[in-house]
Amino acid sequence: MIDPSFFDEGALVAVLTTQPLDRALDYKAPEGGCHLGAFVEVPLGPRKVLGVVWGPGKGDYDYAKVRSVLRVLDVAPMRAEMRRFLEKAAAYTLTPMPAMLRLATRAPGLGDPPSMRKVYRRGPDEPDRMTDARRRVLEFLAEYGDLSFTLKELAELSGVTSSVIKGLVKQGAVAEEDSPRDLPFAPLDPDLPGKELTEDQDRAATHVAEAVRAGTYGTTLLRGVTGSGKTEVYLEAVAACLSAGRQALVLLPEIALTAEFLKRVEVRFGARPAEWHSGATMTERRRIWRMIGQGQAQLVIGARSALFLPYQNLGLIVVDEEHDTSYKQEDGVLYNARDMAVLRASLLGAQVVLSSATPSLESWANAESGKYTRLDLEARFGPAVLPTMKTIDMRAETLPSDRWVSDTLKRAVDQRLEAGEQAMLFLNRRGYAPITLCRACGHQVGCDQCDARMVEHRFLKRLMCHQCGETKPMPTVCPSCGAEDRMAPVGPGVERLGEEAVKLFPDARVAVLSSDMYGSARALKAEIEGIAAGGADVVIGTQLVAKGHNFPNLTLVGVIDADLGLQGSDLRAAERTFQLMRQVAGRAGRAEKPGTAMLQTFQPEHPVIRAILAGDEEGFWRAEAAEREAAGVPPYGRMAGIILSGPDAAQVFDAANALARNAVPLARVGAQVFGPAPAPIARIRGRHRVRLLVKAGKGVALQGAIAQWVSQLRLKGDMRLAVDIDPQSFY
Ligand SMILES: [Zn+2]
Ligand SMILES: [Zn+2]
Repeated sequence: MIDPSFFDEGALVAVLTTQPLDRALDYKAPEGGCHLGAFVEVPLGPRKVLGVVWGPGKGDYDYAKVRSVLRVLDVAPMRAEMRRFLEKAAAYTLTPMPAMLRLATRAPGLGDPPSMRKVYRRGPDEPDRMTDARRRVLEFLAEYGDLSFTLKELAELSGVTSSVIKGLVKQGAVAEEDSPRDLPFAPLDPDLPGKELTEDQDRAATHVAEAVRAGTYGTTLLRGVTGSGKTEVYLEAVAACLSAGRQALVLLPEIALTAEFLKRVEVRFGARPAEWHSGATMTERRRIWRMIGQGQAQLVIGARSALFLPYQNLGLIVVDEEHDTSYKQEDGVLYNARDMAVLRASLLGAQVVLSSATPSLESWANAESGKYTRLDLEARFGPAVLPTMKTIDMRAETLPSDRWVSDTLKRAVDQRLEAGEQAMLFLNRRGYAPITLCRACGHQVGCDQCDARMVEHRFLKRLMCHQCGETKPMPTVCPSCGAEDRMAPVGPGVERLGEEAVKLFPDARVAVLSSDMYGSARALKAEIEGIAAGGADVVIGTQLVAKGHNFPNLTLVGVIDADLGLQGSDLRAAERTFQLMRQVAGRAGRAEKPGTAMLQTFQPEHPVIRAILAGDEEGFWRAEAAEREAAGVPPYGRMAGIILSGPDAAQVFDAANALARNAVPLARVGAQVFGPAPAPIARIRGRHRVRLLVKAGKGVALQGAIAQWVSQLRLKGDMRLAVDIDPQSFY
């Protein structure tokens, strides 16, 4: 009997590489053979590239000319389940397999042998002469018995310079040893007591923990208002998963992955979990990737790409803030991590918990139809209650043209300041002013590369394009008519609102929080934590403040422009506005103090504004669902966006027209194609963009038809085509 999962030396194997080729290539198995799924290095032309043994070779090439696998990497082979997941995800998102494999190998130096580092522990000898510093080191080591430390740790913890330790090494009092750099993660203890749960939480926790113990696939939508204790509930599911000896993954939007959150997890399980995010160092990434593959990391807290790590025995995936748009990757591989989490779990026999205060309509509908189990946490954890919601009718307020905070809102903020509490002014617009206009001729400064206005960022002292990131200095002379000193900002961004707040509240400490004002995500998170701890009286923020941060002393949220998200033709405009307003309002009045949210609006009768005010979430979902069902759009129909782009506008349009005319493969499955039309932003980075929209019934196998349809098109020159299945944004 031949073992189908092992290839002897010289046997033909098909290797999928990370290079953009349309198929796996045949190689000969190396000396000693290789396993199915092995990570290997293979020659490709003059280069050596990373690949995975995907199956037996095809053998359609002269055997004598087939090259050999160079070496098998010293990491666990990719599991059959992972290979299937990548194939299914590729088929769903119409992504070439090499691009999927790149997602799954995002750790540098995978092929390197585990590197070593020096560690220090108590040595056998005594120093010839004892000093204070030396004594501190030896006493510290004695206290920790047989543990070893890096030079830096030992120097810091015992309060000496590294030369003191080096001196002790020479004397044999401290031993210097080599230790592998990629250390396993400290074991987590699921049996430590969690927080005391309310009856509501306990019921939900028991349900998901039992589902995890059953070891089968299932998805649970865990819905609960901000502060209702969703985290405590899903951490119990994580505990059940760890107790069952399986690995767990908690996905969070990058911005919600805070030190505060990690601390909560550490307190619950007694040790720090692995954290996977864009700020992780290359060394840390490699360590996590390897340890997960060896089963030596039990729990990963990570941003969306953590879904593609090589888990050995994954039993639970939690998607926190499941409605968050950052789960959709909008460039490169266009995938939604929430949907891919469900796919991966279904292949594994694992459980998924989707957690949100304001679920996406997709998840809500899946729960309605019985595909997902729905659990509701109604009671707010602790003594706080939901904030009171009010509108401020801006038609009745008289404001000068350069002010955005109404008198009503100002009075409310003043009251909070007098009470020694925090207030937040929310405006979902980065920068100083969205428009820079010439008062002489009316010219608006736009980006040279895109069809977008340049946004003034006074903090950076530049104009910036929010599409391509291009910046230029603020012009003093109008680029159109040449008039001097007539360029003026129009409309507010958070920076300008910050200026207004300083004038309106001269005695308050005002802080502006916007993602572009800090050098790194870490610096931004640190700033947010400082403010939450009381570092400011008035907080001005964009949507990033809506996500998962606790501001215990915040009791008032003022939304400067509640109408902002309602404009535009986006399918999800109403849903997004509803979610965002509910989340922002949820920042007010945690802990002991009740909160108020005030929405400045010119259309207080708008159904979405009224639904937000009434807090009638079920009513909102039902109305929104009925509208989408009538229109046959997601989640009651299927959609795909096709974006053609290239440097030549006419060529791009011709290609899009040709596609639209030859839509037989789509017609065959009953799908319709709309367009071509210039994309809402018709030019980004100098590339002209044209969109086609494909719509089909819910049960239609759309991907196959689209693949066939677009394969008719030969892309000339620098033209590109991207397919976006289940598009989230339509820019
Ligand atoms: Zn001008
Ligand atoms: Zn631009």
